[in-house]
Amino acid sequence: MDNLINKYLNENIPIKQRLFYIATFTGSLGALLYTMFGILVRINPRVVLVFLFMAVIGDILFITGSHRPETIAVCSHILIISCNIICFPLLVLINDNTSVEMTIYFFIGITYAAVLFAGKARIIYLCIQFLVDGVASFLNYYVRIRTGGYIGAETSVDYIRLEVAIIMTSVLCGVIICYRNLVLSKEMHKKEEAIINAEQVNFAKDMFLVNVSHEIRTPLNAIIGTADMVIDSEAVNHVKEMAYNISNSSHALLSITSDLLDFSRMNVENFKPVNEKYDISEMLNDIINLISVRLLDSNIEFYVDIAAGLPKFLIGDSGKIRQIMINMLSNAVKYTREGHVTLSVNFEYESGNDIRMKVSVEDSGIGIKEENLEKIFEPYNRSGEATDRLIEGNGLGLALCRKLSEAMGGKIRATSVYGEGSVFSFEVCQSIETPYTGGTVG
Ligand code: ADP
Repeated sequence: MDNLINKYLNENIPIKQRLFYIATFTGSLGALLYTMFGILVRINPRVVLVFLFMAVIGDILFITGSHRPETIAVCSHILIISCNIICFPLLVLINDNTSVEMTIYFFIGITYAAVLFAGKARIIYLCIQFLVDGVASFLNYYVRIRTGGYIGAETSVDYIRLEVAIIMTSVLCGVIICYRNLVLSKEMHKKEEAIINAEQVNFAKDMFLVNVSHEIRTPLNAIIGTADMVIDSEAVNHVKEMAYNISNSSHALLSITSDLLDFSRMNVENFKPVNEKYDISEMLNDIINLISVRLLDSNIEFYVDIAAGLPKFLIGDSGKIRQIMINMLSNAVKYTREGHVTLSVNFEYESGNDIRMKVSVEDSGIGIKEENLEKIFEPYNRSGEATDRLIEGNGLGLALCRKLSEAMGGKIRATSVYGEGSVFSFEVCQSIETPYTGGTVG
């Protein structure tokens, strides 16, 4: 049921289209029910046949409009002409003397004309509808009265009152529905404007962040370079120690600024991964060296497990894959005090010349509470533990990793046992050259 509602009535479908679906669906369902009811209570078979015809035509129009929405305008004309302008008046004329309710169905015709059309078409259809309904009803009255069979109203004045009541009620209903649609479409318009405004503000904010973080990186690199020169110089030890602290803090600041820059850049530019041949063993070596150096003075063991047979040369966006791996490993190091961090790289062959590469980073760190596992992939979202323990970070790394992996058609996910450790894994398809002659890693 939810699927049906979502398919036919979801808010992304234009309002006119939704009204058409609901009008044809409920109209043909109503006509079908009346057909069954007519057969059951044995009313005039001609009346039953006309209702059956309306059920069929309503269904055909509903199906046509669902499969080819561009035909909805034409289908609406066919609906109004066939059912409301031809069938309902016809019913009044062909019913037997006891079918007094037929004129009440004019109500549907007038309401549909008001709701399904706008502007001139609405006025024309309403006028035709009033005219045809009026003529049919008077004919009905005079034909019946002559044979003494009209039961619904006793005199022509009664009849006119009935007719006026029907027209007034249907026009009022039509006006109310149209007014409601107008209010809704104005509200939607306002919402769309608000969304566009918010997007523009966001774009301006991201552009600002891109510019600022880019500008900060240049002097930061100069500070790091100078501090490193002091460390390598003949300076006295306490000066070297101070330079070491400057270098360390600047590196931390540089990493935060880089995340900020990359994240904002991804929001303003449409990131498209490049597909280039790269040497995965060389990339893994670099990453392992980088992380090993960070772990030199720590109580953390670093294990690496690379699946045998992993092709040495792959085709994909090595820069972004490297960025994701470094981010996951840096987090593991950052959020683990003691124990281990394990990097595993696995793969399986996919169809053609593709492999699915699976990278996972397991640690024995602080872990993440289950309710925070999804939130940590949202920008600027840090789980309580990280902020409580004053571990530096800006909550952008994983959001960036998710964006990058999705842009490459991959997936990143996390599992964790709070207080015991976490596993972050990332899967992505990479190609290999065929025939492959590049050897394997490990
Ligand atoms: P940052 O580390 O800069 O805060 P991230 O986006 O990289 O930003 O991570 C978001 C949050 O996810 C972190 O603040 C931390 O709470 C949590 N987190 C990420 N990796 C780990 C991990 N290996 N162990 C425990 N918590 C983690």
